[in-house]
Amino acid sequence: MIDVLIVGAGSAGAVIANRVSEDPNRSVRLIEAGPDYPELSQTPFDLINSHNNSYTAHDWGHRYEPTREREVIFPRGRVTGGSSAVNTTIALRGMPEDYDEWARLGCDGWSWTEVLPAFNRLERDLDYGDKPYHGDAGPITIRRYPADELEPQQAAFLTTADQLGYPDCPDANDPDGWGAGPHPMNKLGRLRISTAIGYLAPARLRPNLTIQADTLVRRVLFQGSRATGVEVENADGSIETINARLVVLCAGAIKTPQILMLSGIGPKAQLEAFGIESVTDEPGVGQNLSDHPALSVVCEVKDGVLIDHDRPIIQTILRYTAEGSDKRNDLQIEQISFAGKPNGPALFSIAAVLEYQYGRGELRLQSSDPSDHPIIDARFCEDDRDTSRLVGCMKDTLAFARTGELGDMIKTLSFPDPARGVDDEKLAALCKKFAGSGYHPCGTVKMGDKTDPMAVVDENGFAHRLENLVVADASIMPFVPRANTNLTCIMIGEKIGERLRRGH
Ligand SMILES: Cc1cc2nc3c(=O)[nH]c(=O)nc-3n(C[C@H](O)[C@H](O)[C@H](O)COP(=O)(O)OP(=O)(O)OC[C@H]3O[C@@H](n4cnc5c(N)ncnc54)[C@H](O)[C@@H]3O)c2cc1C
Repeated sequence: MIDVLIVGAGSAGAVIANRVSEDPNRSVRLIEAGPDYPELSQTPFDLINSHNNSYTAHDWGHRYEPTREREVIFPRGRVTGGSSAVNTTIALRGMPEDYDEWARLGCDGWSWTEVLPAFNRLERDLDYGDKPYHGDAGPITIRRYPADELEPQQAAFLTTADQLGYPDCPDANDPDGWGAGPHPMNKLGRLRISTAIGYLAPARLRPNLTIQADTLVRRVLFQGSRATGVEVENADGSIETINARLVVLCAGAIKTPQILMLSGIGPKAQLEAFGIESVTDEPGVGQNLSDHPALSVVCEVKDGVLIDHDRPIIQTILRYTAEGSDKRNDLQIEQISFAGKPNGPALFSIAAVLEYQYGRGELRLQSSDPSDHPIIDARFCEDDRDTSRLVGCMKDTLAFARTGELGDMIKTLSFPDPARGVDDEKLAALCKKFAGSGYHPCGTVKMGDKTDPMAVVDENGFAHRLENLVVADASIMPFVPRANTNLTCIMIGEKIGERLRRGH
């Protein structure tokens, strides 16, 4: 019998597999739907190449509705390393206040001072490793592009930020910092440091860890309220049962709630509608979908400005606070080095991103078939507090397109169309229609106090109303932190992995 069976080898799952298998007396099985590439030399280029996201070669093919009646792709990594293996490698932490708010919402042990040791343990920060709020010996290497490695449009973004009066911020992960500067990134040259590289590579030699790739987990199996293992579909289509003493779901904010619902854990009426027998009524599963709504200013550049789609897609960031907001650094503006198609007009964009979101979306089953995708309604900008701050951010972003060195590179705006006007009302209409995801969904199996009926798991990731079942990935976040979510997912893996290593 397997001691610990982990579903999903992504940002959190790979970390948990590493930490739990540090105990040589514990047998650990890590099951992943996508492929595994044990050798870097055999790893496909899209997973190595951190200069751009990998959108299709290792993707689930999900679609979602960011705003009503608009459906677009929603990428999620399907490979060992999960979404950390396909992402942009921005290595940003949330604001200390995010984690303090998690703790206030009933997540004991998740305040800033309590999560900081895990953030420090996961990283090897090549620039600021000597600071008390950084680490210099972790599995994930982080560095910032120095000025002489910036693309011309990225360098221009920083000089324009200075001209617009934003302070210089050399370390965006300084807990007290704000302003414009280089992005902390978990890449070395072109190489993306995913959790497959940082955490699985050193752990895969351990005899007590088995990595089983190309295997789809269909559901968790129960005897009464006790999880006993999982039902899987192997690459050849055969269906098999794998028993385990503890099941740890790390399939991410989209697939984890889907697996739970298919297993009978979710809103009872919804499960009954699909003929799924309820194990326990959990109204919180699939609810509370939290993300970063974003909208970009797309710019056609002047003749002579070189746009090369083979260069780093992003290198710099502005973190700042909306006017009148009590949420520090609730906005981001980022220069995106290229946009559109390589053979199309020469474009770059400047992204306005809402980092603290009040609105929530939801995820529902489409059918009881595990190979079907769930329905994802993000419902961006349905809360006026979100729309008004994203409109403000768009106006600040438009100022970048008009000012200094960055403005000088631009021939015309492709979006929003200046001829149609860019007043508050027009921008609000655009946000409500075209806001899209920062690809940071979370919160769909939220952690919290047992007295909250919408909280599915406790502060250690254990299901409140079931036995031998843990959830540990982006889905357990009570709400999205004010940062891209990869480092927070790895931090969750570190904390829950360490807890499980010590026994359960
Ligand atoms: C294109 C893109 C760009 C992004 N850029 C950034 C960035 O620059 N910085 C940042 O901080 N964040 C970024 N993110 C977000 C970040 O990568 C995710 O928040 C994070 O990786 C999620 O971690 P996770 O552990 O919750 O899930 P994942 O890392 O997605 O892992 C889930 C794993 O479970 C597997 N799985 C799912 N269902 C099953 C099943 N039924 N059976 C078996 N296995 C299953 C999946 O294949 C996957 O490997 C990006 C995401 C995407 C998609």
